[in-house]
Amino acid sequence: MKLKDREFAVIGLGRFGSGVALQLEENNYHVLGIDQNEEIVQRMSSLITHVAILDSTDEDALRAIDILSFDTVIVAIGEDFEANLLTTVALKNLGVRNVISKAPTNRQVDILSRVGADRVIQPEYEAGKRLAQELSTPAILEKVALGSEHVIAEVIVPEKFANQSLLQAHFRSKFGVSVISVKRGDDVFVSPRADFILLPKDLLVVLGREQRIDNFCRLS
Ligand code: ATP
Repeated sequence: MKLKDREFAVIGLGRFGSGVALQLEENNYHVLGIDQNEEIVQRMSSLITHVAILDSTDEDALRAIDILSFDTVIVAIGEDFEANLLTTVALKNLGVRNVISKAPTNRQVDILSRVGADRVIQPEYEAGKRLAQELSTPAILEKVALGSEHVIAEVIVPEKFANQSLLQAHFRSKFGVSVISVKRGDDVFVSPRADFILLPKDLLVVLGREQRIDNFCRLS
């Protein structure tokens, strides 16, 4: 079942925009995908709930599809900055509450913020920063030997398990890892139940064979 009907619209279905749209669909949201390129829209139409072919710099065209009924509109036009800028301005002019635009350079981030974008992201730069963060944050924060083979370790939850329950993640059956507690900010959940949902950045205290815990952490 889909969570909400008209929540997100994504304008520009290139690599970035289609990635955003498909992930939102996977997360059970209905998405309207918009592009001026008919072929691209055709290709995406079986994967995205709603699609529309239009030039997003045209305010009338945006009004005609009732763009105001979307809480958040993502402007995923990269190459043609003018089109991105005009689209962002049109959306804010029309009164869209939350406009997220992407920009490749700092200067463009600045311009889009000045014309009212609520959030501007630089995907390449941010992905680079995230990679550096990942590489400089050891997945295993603490390890205490328990006999000759077993350890208790504090680990950052591998990203692929975020938003899954312990049961869905199959920690014990697949990875031989038992979760003793989960630390989330200042909260500690001791002996979490099988239906406990993990969130990104949760810290897990786990028990298992050292080799298996090391393998588990490499899944990050
Ligand atoms: P990628 O996300 O693949 O890196 P990119 O950053 O190079 O893409 P573009 O290729 O410039 O971004 O644009 C992405 C999509 O936006 C393209 O499919 C293009 O057809 C669409 N697009 C560009 N201008 C407009 C516009 N004015 N109205 C609607 N769609 C547009």
